[in-house]
Amino acid sequence: MKTWVYIDHFNGQPAPASWEALGLAKTFGEASAIVFGQNVEALAKTALEYGADSVLLADDASLAVFSPEAFASTLAALVSNSPPALILFPTTSRTRELAAMLAIDLATGVLVDVTGLELFDNQVTATRPVYEGKLLEKTTCSASPQLVTLRARAFPKPTPEAGRVGEIKKVAAVADGSVTVEDFVSGEQGVSLTDAGVVVSAGRGVSNDPAEGFKLVGALAAVLGGAVGASRAAVDEGYIPYANQVGQTGKVVSPDLYIAAGISGAIQHMSGMRSSKLIVAINKDADAPIFQAARYGVVGDLFTMVPALTEAFKKKLGK
Ligand SMILES: Cc1cc2nc3c(=O)[nH]c(=O)nc-3n(C[C@H](O)[C@H](O)[C@H](O)COP(=O)(O)OP(=O)(O)OC[C@H]3O[C@@H](n4cnc5c(N)ncnc54)[C@H](O)[C@@H]3O)c2cc1C
Repeated sequence: MKTWVYIDHFNGQPAPASWEALGLAKTFGEASAIVFGQNVEALAKTALEYGADSVLLADDASLAVFSPEAFASTLAALVSNSPPALILFPTTSRTRELAAMLAIDLATGVLVDVTGLELFDNQVTATRPVYEGKLLEKTTCSASPQLVTLRARAFPKPTPEAGRVGEIKKVAAVADGSVTVEDFVSGEQGVSLTDAGVVVSAGRGVSNDPAEGFKLVGALAAVLGGAVGASRAAVDEGYIPYANQVGQTGKVVSPDLYIAAGISGAIQHMSGMRSSKLIVAINKDADAPIFQAARYGVVGDLFTMVPALTEAFKKKLGK
């Protein structure tokens, strides 16, 4: 099946889930990467190394800064020329807008934040979590092309093959002057939450000494090469910026390891981390709901348990 994969990036830095999408597309047959931006030829070459059979590259000053209008118009024009059966996107805040606008332009549908995708007869069946992750639904899209955004870390990332080459076809940008993006400001620092293999989060349980609590959590995350997350309660109390919030109104993460310290496990928090491969909870209250989702639980004070874990990991990892 002919599949296109949109390579999402910020200032040339690709969202790693783009490569996961490319790996999945290759299992369906021919896969072309879509790369838009300015001075992004290097990204097109990287897409070939990650297995793209070819790249459609729109490298133009009008695409220097992401704008869903211009990017959707450019992609819609390409689809009109030679429509693929399926377009995959990594799920990011940018692609949520882009895929939705493209679906309107092409009078098709978009399946969002998909965690499983099967192919039967040129039609995909998508699995996606609904009701805050309590149920998984299977959905199809009857219109064409089928647009699907894939949850980060839900699909394996292919191993790149250095020096792999292929066709890079330059295509024209379609200007859309309706919106001018002046600047992007990112509140996220360090390892990206959505791409991190390990997330260590804290909640209102740090309230006795929030600065010290997040310092301890940050130290554990650093030893594990992970990112720091938080519950909304911690964000609302001003302990940590909103960019770190995990949950229904924050980020959705699927790390290999999620450590929740001083977080009760409200459904709105769980919806953002339920798909983590291994959940560890540290909580003073043995009846906290988070323990129902956790594979390993520690009933104890995070101010003692988190530094103890950091020391143990340091020793184990030789750091
Ligand atoms: C529309 C809506 C959207 C929402 N979106 C989100 C969202 O995106 N993300 C989110 O997280 N929440 C969200 N919430 C809020 C959610 O309902 C909870 O209020 C919030 O998750 C609670 O955060 P918490 O677990 O840190 O705090 P609490 O529920 O107060 O739990 C704190 C926990 O820390 C434990 N504790 C206390 N001291 C210690 C200690 N020293 N050591 C160990 N454990 C300790 C306690 O036993 C307790 O279990 C949303 C709510 C609504 C209504």
